Amino acid sequence: MERRILIDLAGLRLALIADPGMKIPEGFLPVSGKSEGMKTIRELAVFRFTCRKCEDAPCISVCPADALEKDGEGIIDRHLNLCISCKSCVTICPFGTMMTDFFRHHRNRDLFFDLDDPRELELFVEACPPGTVTFTNSGEAPEKNIFSLNDRVLVRDYLYTPANK
Ligand code: SF4
Ligand code: SF4
Repeated sequence: MERRILIDLAGLRLALIADPGMKIPEGFLPVSGKSEGMKTIRELAVFRFTCRKCEDAPCISVCPADALEKDGEGIIDRHLNLCISCKSCVTICPFGTMMTDFFRHHRNRDLFFDLDDPRELELFVEACPPGTVTFTNSGEAPEKNIFSLNDRVLVRDYLYTPANK
């Protein structure tokens, strides 16, 4: 069975606020579909759990490369082959959904870890700020703000829930 990791997205955000220049290692997972390629688990998690899923999403309208769209579940999807890393979407998002360092490490291979590779997965956990990414045998625990991103990654974060739900 594949090893599962728990990424404390809320903790990582606090670490970044405390040290905005911090270089956070990025764990990548393959994604399929229209935006086929390797995406960071932070990006996948932020768009799924933190994004307010604005009806008239300003991030989509401002993108000069048509790189953002909503998928069938209303989750923002960034097409890697179209994105030019201009960060206009980061600037215009009224909720600070995307961390400003999202696009920072594009060419720094030392900070990339392919989470499909067991050794790189271990190195990724070691390289992250202490306590923010750990191996786990546990499952989803909504009462602890822990949610499943996929069958290999759990995320701890505070979900945005619309008031009318
Ligand atoms: S960084 Fe620029 S090109 Fe990439 S998704 Fe955001 S607005 Fe679009
Ligand atoms: S503007 Fe921000 S909160 Fe709204 S859909 Fe885009 S990323 Fe999500």
